[in-house]
Amino acid sequence: MARYTGPVCRLCRREKMKLFLKGAKCDTMKCPIERRPYPPGEHGRDRMRQGSEYLNQLREKQKARRIYGVLEKQFANMYVEATRQSGITGENLLRMLELRLDNVVYRAGWGANRNQSRQFVRHGHVLVNGKRVNIPSYRLRKGEVVSLKERSRSLIVIRHNVDTLDRQVPPWLEARADGFEVTVRDLPMRQHIDVPVREQLIVELYSK
Ligand code: SF4
Repeated sequence: MARYTGPVCRLCRREKMKLFLKGAKCDTMKCPIERRPYPPGEHGRDRMRQGSEYLNQLREKQKARRIYGVLEKQFANMYVEATRQSGITGENLLRMLELRLDNVVYRAGWGANRNQSRQFVRHGHVLVNGKRVNIPSYRLRKGEVVSLKERSRSLIVIRHNVDTLDRQVPPWLEARADGFEVTVRDLPMRQHIDVPVREQLIVELYSK
């Protein structure tokens, strides 16, 4: 399954904001955005000016893709599916992204970032309703239960994340007391999705 494997801090710098793609480093002064808050490349500083309407729309789309680690084709397909659902297209799109299994693993605080969460899913550490699911893009439904495999709970990297990240689960997820199981209590509403994306601009871009 394809995914971006290049330097991720570069992606944040291109969007001129922290996308929190690394984990612990993102909250320290080592974050390149703290030192070089302008796009990468020889002409990076020249790109600080306000862009055109199209550029702003494009950047919002790229930002959403990069936050959730979704490639172009898959993202475009999700948009088409979002237009077919009832409700506001932009919100539908964000809801579908939030309900990806790798994102829920991240929200549960088991992965330091979405990339690592994706890896946990690929390596078979994650169960959905008690059955192993190793597809990061698997879309969860209301009522489904996501848990960590019994043996995986003692992995050093997972233990470290659970002990140090202290990530609050969003209101649409319900975590069990031991922190190794979450239930999708409800479908996520826009106000509970804390990503800095103006989804309306993405809709405008794809509607052209
Ligand atoms: Fe982005 Fe984190 Fe890298 Fe900072 S450290 S540029 S927030 S991925």
